[in-house]
Amino acid sequence: MNFASDNIAGVHPRIMEALQSANAGFSPSYGADDLTASLEARLKDIFETDLAVFPVATGSAANCLALSALSPPWGAIYCHDHAHIFDDECCGPEFYTGGAKLYPVEAEHGRLTVEGLRAGLGRFKAGFDHHPQPAAISLTQCTEWGAVYPVDRIAALSDLAHAHGCRVHMDGARFANALASLDVSPAEMTWKAGVDALSFGATKNGAMAAEAVIFFDTDLAKDFIYRRKRAGHLFSKMRFLSAQLLAYLEDDLWLENARHANRAAARLHDGLARLNSVAFAAPVEANELFVALPEDTAALLREAGASFHTMSKDGRDVSRLVTSFATGDDEVDRFIGICGG
Ligand SMILES: *Cc1c(COP(=O)(O)O)cnc(C)c1O
Repeated sequence: MNFASDNIAGVHPRIMEALQSANAGFSPSYGADDLTASLEARLKDIFETDLAVFPVATGSAANCLALSALSPPWGAIYCHDHAHIFDDECCGPEFYTGGAKLYPVEAEHGRLTVEGLRAGLGRFKAGFDHHPQPAAISLTQCTEWGAVYPVDRIAALSDLAHAHGCRVHMDGARFANALASLDVSPAEMTWKAGVDALSFGATKNGAMAAEAVIFFDTDLAKDFIYRRKRAGHLFSKMRFLSAQLLAYLEDDLWLENARHANRAAARLHDGLARLNSVAFAAPVEANELFVALPEDTAALLREAGASFHTMSKDGRDVSRLVTSFATGDDEVDRFIGICGG
């Protein structure tokens, strides 16, 4: 019963095989290889547009580097107060941007609201040299509370951000889970809705260590090769990052994995919802559940070997259950069985 996170799962066998194949022979270094060129072509095809892509090895690097291209050191970056960039990157965004201020705005289950963003944008005056200058917004898709932004919300937030001269970043650590949940195209969930830069996650959904920074406005990428190198994320054996990402995209593996994880979460949700003892603290829209478990149930689960984290949401303790491409029906059913007593 492994629900601590989706990154506790291993590497998908097809991605492992791709790494093995990439290991044959010699290949140009620092991204001049064929796999990296194919990756760029493949992503242009999938997103149905021109774009610039830069593979990196962690989601934090993707977020921090992307934001550094969107905000000057005196910029304000709007996000919610449990955003990964706000809580979980140890001031990396501030460091990589050279000092930009992360400003939390009102959200529901991690989704920024248009009213909240409007209030945040009004907080600092553009052109006033005493204030942080509105520079970017960052949306997490799926959010840190397991919710998924509908496309029209992304578009409404992007319109407002752009009207204030702000760029739009999407933290897509669980991009595929959101896409599978909404059943829209990658283009519709990003640039068509106003997203300028995307942290495209793969690690949590089957890769070993591969994420990508994608710019839909390629002008934003003009200094990026220097930012990436300076940050230590220009991999000399880049082909191994690209091989993972290519295999991830091949034959829709990424969507297949995400659908599997989302289905497992729905199964867990349906089983737990039938019990009166479990309260849901957030909507279940992709592959994460936030539940209030009775203390004795949580203890029984842990005794039986279940792994999950407990955290505070809106002032109460909630347990987070995350499913992945590797979650089995048996572990879901065992978990539900124990909760049912
Ligand atoms: C996991 C995660 C990341 C990336 O984390 P790394 O540990 O740096 O790879 C980024 N954003 C969100 C919302 C995440 O859940």
